[in-house]
Amino acid sequence: MLEIDELSVSYGAVRALDGVGITVERGGITAVLGANGAGKTTLLRTISGLQPARAGRISWDGAELTGRAPDRIARGGVAHVPEGGGVITELTVDENLRLGALWRRDRADRAAARKEVYELFPPLEERSAKPASTLSGGERQMLAIGRALMSRPGLLLLDEPSLGLAPLITARIMGILRDLRASTGLTVVLVEQNAHSALSIADRGYVLALGKVVAVDTAAELLADDGLRHAYLGF
Ligand code: ATP
Repeated sequence: MLEIDELSVSYGAVRALDGVGITVERGGITAVLGANGAGKTTLLRTISGLQPARAGRISWDGAELTGRAPDRIARGGVAHVPEGGGVITELTVDENLRLGALWRRDRADRAAARKEVYELFPPLEERSAKPASTLSGGERQMLAIGRALMSRPGLLLLDEPSLGLAPLITARIMGILRDLRASTGLTVVLVEQNAHSALSIADRGYVLALGKVVAVDTAAELLADDGLRHAYLGF
């Protein structure tokens, strides 16, 4: 379980997160929604150890993450796909994937993880020797997710995977995430401005506004709440 309690994060005088509490059950998909600047990216960066917390606690699987270095958090099974994916366009698809498991010692294990990723995303296997710069936006997002999966994480943090993608491609990526959760029991935190897509696969959702949680409910209830949708979710 991911437990975030009273988390506050500031950039100088800007309070990006203010007493945020979030609980994510193992094997669940939780959507974190909200407008530009609500604090969504900051939340993921703080879970990953890339941004220090000013106050509060974060734990995953009973282990305290707050104050730990990002590499230790990653080794503890937390993988982060940043906004835009962070794919290295000069490297091939295969090289990008290998980067995701550099620190895993067991070669057979790395090869098995790569095989699984290619099974999950066949377009990546077809283009494995091509530079990542030749991929479409959707394929780059697949590569970014695939690279994160190379470490066989227990917790996957995804920052706006639908950004800039056509609706059909977004739906395909959401479908893959849903299947992945079903087949591996992966726990997913999905940050999205595209609330409708995210709620279509999430169990639960949190809505952030100006660094605070303003709503938390099942995905079905959030989708059905017209007032909330109009006020915060923009659809
Ligand atoms: P977006 O969808 O634009 O990424 P977000 O919900 O992810 O928005 P954050 O990027 O976490 O929001 O930003 C939360 C607040 O913190 C905003 O007011 C933003 O301007 C501010 N902020 C974010 N990063 C920095 C930074 N490096 N320095 C100063 N202020 C920042």
